[in-house]
Amino acid sequence: MALIVQKYGGTSVANTDRIKNVAARVAKYHAQGDKVVVVVSAMSGVTDNLIKLAKEIMPLPSEREMDMLLATGEQQTIALTAIALHTLGVPAVSMTGAQAGIVTDGIHTKAKIHNITPKQVHEKLDAGNVVIVAGFQGETSDGQITTLGRGGSDLTAIALAAAIKADLCQIYTDVDGVYTTDPRIVPTAKKLQEISYEEMLELASLGAKVMQSRSVEFAMKFGVVFEVRSSLNDNPGTIVKEETKSMEGVVVRGVALDKNQSKITIIGVPDKPGMAASLFKTLGDANVNVDMIVQNISHGSNPPTTDISFTLDKADLLKSRKVLDGVKKTIGFRELTSSETSAKLSIVGVGMKNHTGVAGKLFQALAKEGVNIDMISTSEIKISVVIDLAKGEAAMKAVHAAFIG
Ligand code: ASP
Ligand code: MG
Repeated sequence: MALIVQKYGGTSVANTDRIKNVAARVAKYHAQGDKVVVVVSAMSGVTDNLIKLAKEIMPLPSEREMDMLLATGEQQTIALTAIALHTLGVPAVSMTGAQAGIVTDGIHTKAKIHNITPKQVHEKLDAGNVVIVAGFQGETSDGQITTLGRGGSDLTAIALAAAIKADLCQIYTDVDGVYTTDPRIVPTAKKLQEISYEEMLELASLGAKVMQSRSVEFAMKFGVVFEVRSSLNDNPGTIVKEETKSMEGVVVRGVALDKNQSKITIIGVPDKPGMAASLFKTLGDANVNVDMIVQNISHGSNPPTTDISFTLDKADLLKSRKVLDGVKKTIGFRELTSSETSAKLSIVGVGMKNHTGVAGKLFQALAKEGVNIDMISTSEIKISVVIDLAKGEAAMKAVHAAFIG
């Protein structure tokens, strides 16, 4: 008998047949005597569609109202899943994030979990129920509905697993586990049996859309071992856990491509102390996550000026342009350009810590493919390059072939 958290993503609950499948799987565990907490996403496409509706009315809607709107997606799924379990004779109770005791800060659309008091979850489990919790949502201490950022149901599952000290945390999705790269683009991609938190974190934040990166960070911090596996079959998935010695033998664990990058270049920024600070404080205050930053050497005099480019999520581009336009006069930069046609390609592996020549091999593979590099950034276990979106997939194939096969 185990205490299990199972999370089902949007494609796993895409329609009522899929929801019935989920219910059948959950029922099996319940029949075995396991206590099961199910976390579900909105049915696939629902969140996107709600966003689209709001934007038909206004391009930059209130973030509080977006949370109110988007939280309804998951609420549909929890009720439908409970109903599907009832038809199988399994007692099941659905709960909103708030009912499950998930308390967040007040940063609408990107809220962070403050604490979880899963009192009702325990009560309902102890009474023999399957508990189905709406992913992606929480509530502030004064009762405002919040959401945890796109893909946030993963975070709900991991955080709940930590809070109730679950024996097992399973993240069900539409792929068999974590692959060396996206198998839909690169057919030679291989499924990994295990991967370290650090590698998974890099892959997740780099646009390998297996899991939301914040949830992997959370798992690492609280030592939640979890398995990523398919809801469409019974194949074992990929175990995500602390790094082990044997993991370091592999130089590149995975290759990721993030197609949701956009790039802003601020031209003619006065090159004096405090300018970058003001620019990025402005963006930080607007809750924009900036990724790679490149500053050119300065030119001219009185004062010398420089250009600063940085990448960010495409979703934040409009907001960023707006807040930067607002400080154009006070900072005194000349012009702002942006592009939505960038992609970020990255290779990741804890083995890079003790292998040399990795960057050279990467650049060579890209050169052979005729791919131009816009920006480069490196860390201990990762090398990323910003490239033209149109060449993204070809580059990914070439790089995977060079390092993994
Ligand atoms: N429904 C939300 C989204 O699409 C949360 C999730 O799926 O995890 O981002
Ligand atoms: Mg999702």
